[in-house]
Amino acid sequence: MKTLYQAAGHKNLLFHDLTEGGMVQANQHLIVSGGEAILLDPGGHKVYTKLIAAMGGSVAPARLTHLFFSHQDPDIVAAANGWLMMTDADGYLSGLWIRFLQHFGVDDLVVKRIHAIPDEGMRLTVGGTELKLIPCHFLHSPGNFQVWDPVARILYTGDLGASIGPDDFQVGDFDAHVPTMAGFHRRYMASPSALRGWARMARSLDIEIIAPQHGAVFVGREKVKRFIDWVDGLECGPDTIGCNFRIP
Ligand code: FE
Repeated sequence: MKTLYQAAGHKNLLFHDLTEGGMVQANQHLIVSGGEAILLDPGGHKVYTKLIAAMGGSVAPARLTHLFFSHQDPDIVAAANGWLMMTDADGYLSGLWIRFLQHFGVDDLVVKRIHAIPDEGMRLTVGGTELKLIPCHFLHSPGNFQVWDPVARILYTGDLGASIGPDDFQVGDFDAHVPTMAGFHRRYMASPSALRGWARMARSLDIEIIAPQHGAVFVGREKVKRFIDWVDGLECGPDTIGCNFRIP
């Protein structure tokens, strides 16, 4: 576990070492603020039991008040039912995906606590801190959101900024880090125009840390700027792989 930010009544924790074996490495992020707590992209079943133990020293898991799901992938939502059953938390997920999430076995008792994030995003107050749930559709999911924490100045970017295989929890040399991101972004990110729109949005925020759901986090304004510039110039999706589909 790493502490990304800490001040009176506000704490941002990163759990980066709970995935195992062949599963894609995934970060779980926790924001504790003013006596409430939101867990971002909690992950699947194997992470669930470990995360409960790992969180214990910071906040009793049963006292989580909010759950955020950036999109519908299994490394994010697979254990949603467990989290909802164990807590009284309210969950937030793109309205596009709520009916799909229920295939993971979300109990009727708790499904009403999952709220649809509208396409344009929304504000969400956690312990007096007003977080922004910012739309970034097609990066990569068609219904996709990021979280801006204005107190810690952390932008939680979900799969955007994901890297596969870096040694450290934070980015060291940016140029050396690019190859750990490039293949993933070209193949999983769906739209260059969405990347440009994201870069424009991100430049309007005063960001200290960019914290993705996989791999290393970008700490400091210099690395944040390098990442935004990299995203702005990136080609991805249909234009790079071509869509000249052929029958095998
Ligand atoms: Fe994903």
